[in-house]
Amino acid sequence: MSRYRLQPSPAQEQALLEHCRHARYVWNLAVEQHACWKPGRKSAPGFAEQCRQLIEARAAFAWLRTGSIIVQQQALKDFAQAMANYFGGTHRRPAWRRRGRGEGFRIVAVKAGDVRRLSRHVGEVKVPKVGWIRFRWSRAVPDEVKSYRVTRDRAGRWHVAFAAIPDPVPAPATGEVAGVDRGVAVSAALSTGEMLNAPALRDTEKARLRRLLRKLARARRGSNRRAEVKAAIARVKARESDRCKDWVEKVSTGLARRFDVIAVEDLKIRAMTRSARGTVEAPGRNVRAKAGLNRSIMAAGWGRLVRRLEHKAPGRVVKVSPAYTSQRCSACGIVDREARESQARYRCRSCGYAGNADVNAARNIAYAAGHAVSAREGPRVAGPVHREPQRDLLLVG
Ligand SMILES: [Zn+2]
Repeated sequence: MSRYRLQPSPAQEQALLEHCRHARYVWNLAVEQHACWKPGRKSAPGFAEQCRQLIEARAAFAWLRTGSIIVQQQALKDFAQAMANYFGGTHRRPAWRRRGRGEGFRIVAVKAGDVRRLSRHVGEVKVPKVGWIRFRWSRAVPDEVKSYRVTRDRAGRWHVAFAAIPDPVPAPATGEVAGVDRGVAVSAALSTGEMLNAPALRDTEKARLRRLLRKLARARRGSNRRAEVKAAIARVKARESDRCKDWVEKVSTGLARRFDVIAVEDLKIRAMTRSARGTVEAPGRNVRAKAGLNRSIMAAGWGRLVRRLEHKAPGRVVKVSPAYTSQRCSACGIVDREARESQARYRCRSCGYAGNADVNAARNIAYAAGHAVSAREGPRVAGPVHREPQRDLLLVG
């Protein structure tokens, strides 16, 4: 997805808000239908059934009928995807959407002429029932746009994101496998020992944010001042999230270019084995640190990083079981619960290996992936770490 700043006129903005209202209304109806469902009852309606219901609702309600059916159907599609993610264990259950929060809609079946360039820095996109809306042509727009999403962030800025899968990055063909671990101390650790940090707010920006939050606490509910402070907070946070997105693009391209195989933990399994509330392997440890991490913006950034890697290195991303990656010694392979001296340090009491705990986990991930790949393709691709084979029993490809 490449995002562009949309510049609607005031009248167009009203029409966009109407699309958002319809999308939100349809989404919330779907949430309600699924919330009413109880075990033992007939299953809640799926996407196809909901689409039929939408047609009926449009026949009954004029205000819904005046809206775009694409916007409304795509809201149902988003909901179906959200439910699939929820059952897959990677996302929380889809919740009610409130006005002003995460507003947006998707347009599909985009025709060839629906996105065009007007001048060096200005383009325009055709939005059903709204017309041509200008956007800042800040980078190349992908060819053959099939769909796009229009969003309004909490700072009130509009964006359009054109969906196009990026061209795959050619593999270096060195046979090298990289393990990437979602770190606690750093954003991501590589099995090569590199630590990658997503950009955070600068100290001056953090100070400003703290000041704004204090102001917000003092501002009366419903006052204009409160709304102003909230908008200012949203702008600071939007800046942080923009930086994180840029970072993800750079890192994913870099990894796809440098390594043949990129190994990450399978988050579906991870959700079960390594939740913040405690796990089989380490009940309740680091609960506070992880809760903080989950809240942080990087939680979203990590999912995005894996998705982008899969786009840029199709077929070269291997997901491995996260079991024991943080307790196992990447040098000798022994599983040692006590080896983690602190959040950041791993020290093996068996062989004496010591290193950053996240890098240690990343090395285990790379090792597991190397095995998964060699099992599939015959000759071993690459093992960044040497050790005896008996621990492989616990490694799942
Ligand atoms: Zn060891």
